[in-house]
Amino acid sequence: MNTEHVIIIGSGPAGWAAATYLARAQLNPLVFAGEKSGGQLMLTTEIENYPGFPQGILGPQLMADMRKQAERFGARVKDLNVERVDFSHKPFRITAGGEEYQAQAVLMTTGAESVWLNVPGEDKFVGRGVSTCAVCDAAFFKGKKTFVIGGGDSAMEDTLALTKFADSVTVVHRRDSFRASKIMQERVLKHPKVNVIWNSGVKEIKGDSKVTSIVLVDMNAKKEQELPADGVFVAIGHKPATDFVKNAIELDEKGFIVTRFVLEQKSLDLATKAVKDGMVPYLTMTSVDGVFAAGDVVDFKYKQAITAAGYGTMAALDIEKWLEESKDQS
Ligand code: NAP
Repeated sequence: MNTEHVIIIGSGPAGWAAATYLARAQLNPLVFAGEKSGGQLMLTTEIENYPGFPQGILGPQLMADMRKQAERFGARVKDLNVERVDFSHKPFRITAGGEEYQAQAVLMTTGAESVWLNVPGEDKFVGRGVSTCAVCDAAFFKGKKTFVIGGGDSAMEDTLALTKFADSVTVVHRRDSFRASKIMQERVLKHPKVNVIWNSGVKEIKGDSKVTSIVLVDMNAKKEQELPADGVFVAIGHKPATDFVKNAIELDEKGFIVTRFVLEQKSLDLATKAVKDGMVPYLTMTSVDGVFAAGDVVDFKYKQAITAAGYGTMAALDIEKWLEESKDQS
């Protein structure tokens, strides 16, 4: 069986950016793009904040262009889901479409999906008033009535992003206190445009061609109320696509891949020592030597297309150097 230099699993901005860099480095990467190639951006419409596109670009178009760019330099792409991995010895083994592949290095860029409420109307109005990214979509809600669902840092950040444009932002939370950091909570709670409805859940999102109202249920009194709404931002967490590697590499409690960037931050002493010893750590490497990760599958904080592309680039540069060093050692 042929051993690839590097296999990339996942086809969002991190995967395509890495594939382009690795292809231009003559490493002939093989990309498993998944049956639904392109990741989260396939679900978005207009992207206005990706540098280089002053008029904006549609998410699916950006993904198709990124893929074309990687292929232009020789990246090979298979639209298959990876079923199994074996990272217990080198070369690493990957099973996709019922066939086994081998690689010296693997890059995980499988991304993360927003968690949805699963209430009637939510699915129907995605992109027509329902969103999971206020940083991306807040500007479309100038002068509107908006709602943010959730009580974590993402919900607080979405709320603050919306206050710059919307007329009002109502945070709906299922408990009587937020889990977000104190500083974010304070900013939200003292903002004059923000109102909070505690102990409440969403029962339904209603509309015609776009969202017009939201139906809430008080958890204690079990009473319902229907309020006029133009936008509903769901911010109840993200689920990384890591089920198929959960026994192969270290994940955090929410399933995000832990890279050395995180490990080094947790252990500054270790990082300082590594630098003192003249070692520059591979920040995108996972707990397994030779397996790297980048983009939203690692990043629970920034979650932007451009940060994912940058992260993919960092991983590609790490992989190129690591393959070079591994060759020297063998
Ligand atoms: P999170 O901390 O897990 O918070 C999710 C929120 O959604 C919680 O308040 C939770 O309620 C609520 N929730 C979960 N499922 C729900 C459901 N089915 N219905 C209604 N509400 C539901 O997620 P996150 O806010 O995305 O943050 C993830 C991580 O990223 C955190 O570690 C956070 O600190 C970090 N982050 C940091 C920043 C920053 O530093 N600027 C920004 C964003 C995120 P309960 O509280 O009742 O569980």
